[in-house]
Amino acid sequence: MLYRLRDAGFSAYLVGGAVRDLLVGQHPKDFDVATDATPEQIKQQFRNCRLIGRRFRLAHVVFGREIIEVATFRANSDDGSGDRETHEDGRLLRDNVYGSIEDDAIRRDFTANALYYAIEDFSVRDYCGGFEDVMARRLRLIGDPEQRYREDPVRMLRAVRLAAKLGFTIDGPTADPIPVLAPLLAEAAPARLFEEILKLFLSGNAVASFQGLEHSGLLPVLLPESAAALQSNRSGALRAMLLEGLAGTDARVANDEPVSPAFLFALLLWPAYCKALIGLQAQGVHPEEAARRAADRVTVHQLNTIALPRRFSLPMQEIWLLQSRFSQRQRKRVTRLLAHPRFRAAFDFLVLRQSASPDHAADVEFWTQAQTQTNEELAATLGVEVPGDSYTDEDAVPSKRRRRRRRRSGAAGASGE
Ligand code: ATP
Ligand code: MG
Repeated sequence: MLYRLRDAGFSAYLVGGAVRDLLVGQHPKDFDVATDATPEQIKQQFRNCRLIGRRFRLAHVVFGREIIEVATFRANSDDGSGDRETHEDGRLLRDNVYGSIEDDAIRRDFTANALYYAIEDFSVRDYCGGFEDVMARRLRLIGDPEQRYREDPVRMLRAVRLAAKLGFTIDGPTADPIPVLAPLLAEAAPARLFEEILKLFLSGNAVASFQGLEHSGLLPVLLPESAAALQSNRSGALRAMLLEGLAGTDARVANDEPVSPAFLFALLLWPAYCKALIGLQAQGVHPEEAARRAADRVTVHQLNTIALPRRFSLPMQEIWLLQSRFSQRQRKRVTRLLAHPRFRAAFDFLVLRQSASPDHAADVEFWTQAQTQTNEELAATLGVEVPGDSYTDEDAVPSKRRRRRRRRSGAAGASGE
């Protein structure tokens, strides 16, 4: 792409995270190109090109599963997130939007992210002292840190995330304002925070990211109820479980195994869920009802900061609600739970809980075995089902509903399962 643009008479550079990652020997996940060609001129060069963005037009050039973002040099300090639209209308702004490569460099966030790789002479162009910072493994904001955080509070999260990812230290003046300005993050667009939190925790550096969030005072803003619950959990068992879970996530990423946002959020919000559940039970709410209400409450409250889509929050809640079913041993219930689409995730979650508290050892052992047993073996372990023994007192339901449920499962069996 760089050569194609050059041959067409434009200057074009690889820029941002990719240059930074390559300099420290990491594999970039994505590539960004900066050029003096306008979006329309870029589009003329590439058939596989789409223009996106309303205010700032960007070109996406698609190669199979890879998208390369090509942006025209810009002069303002907006990050293009669409968060702040105060200057939305106005031809003037649009006319002034493009700039020189130097303008483009200083509107970026960290010096390490403002390096340009040039194909003319294979050099790295540095307008902000980023090369030295990368060599010193240091993250430093361009310009006045407080002003840059006020312009876009998400930069605080990016500081913590990139430091965790790269093993960089955050330069003193860049780190110092974060605990003070942390509350500003609550005003960032929830959809953007959702994207950031996935990057924080599903990129292989979840443990370091979590510790960075704790250390910088950002955790209580991002996950208010969980942070409060962790604080009041004096034994530290909840924090230990969380870190164990995040370490597991990192190990999965390192092994190229899939990681699920639903499981991640089940983990991150588990302290909040436990606290809400205990509160409701103390008020005398029936356990099953309390579990449902706690799950809903935690989800709804968290939506104030992070736009957690339902396709993740529903399975997250299921993982929580299934936890109470692992103590059951009635054969029908065991088979039903084993066949539940969320069984595996819920079981993995149970294993995590056990790592923080020995209470669940017997359940973990039973369900570990149950998964590998044949139906006959399972039946032998559990004994023959005695009629009327299928439901525990714990979740006794009115006899009418009970009959209906039984008939339904009978019908399912008859329909050739
Ligand atoms: P990674 O891709 O590893 O998460 P990155 O630095 O490449 O990190 P991107 O979100 O891909 O992050 O952004 C690409 C580049 O855009 C950054 O390197 C930086 O130069 C610029 N940039 C991104 N977000 C901001 C922001 N909030 N403020 C200023 N510049 C930004
Ligand atoms: Mg990037």
